Amino acid sequence: MASVITFETLEECDLDEWLEKQKSREGTGRPIRCAHCGQQVSTADQRIDQAGSHEHRFGNPAGIVFRIGCFRHAPGCRRVGEATLQWTWFPGHAWSVALCVKCGTHLGWSYGPGGTGAAFFGLILDRLAEEQ
Ligand SMILES: [Zn+2]
Repeated sequence: MASVITFETLEECDLDEWLEKQKSREGTGRPIRCAHCGQQVSTADQRIDQAGSHEHRFGNPAGIVFRIGCFRHAPGCRRVGEATLQWTWFPGHAWSVALCVKCGTHLGWSYGPGGTGAAFFGLILDRLAEEQ
């Protein structure tokens, strides 16, 4: 099952190619990394507003509160599991769990296209490190 997901992710956006492309851009592509292992997850210019703001605070049904930031692309994440609309924090956007491609830390959620627009990632800000 894991190999199927990896294949899909690579087909959608090749990580190495994307990182190369980001590197060649100036100023806007500051790396955002997994705070646990240092793997590059996204870049600062991928921050987007979703439902009116970049940052959101949500509680899951178990009562755990997450502070998340929204990103357009996060090729350093790999999605696992089936996308579902159940308990979604963004109406119309089905979510699946997003893990660090390198160490497997749970970094947030991938949201499919729907309700208010294109697909995006909601990443747990406390689990990211931004290069200054
Ligand atoms: Zn990691």
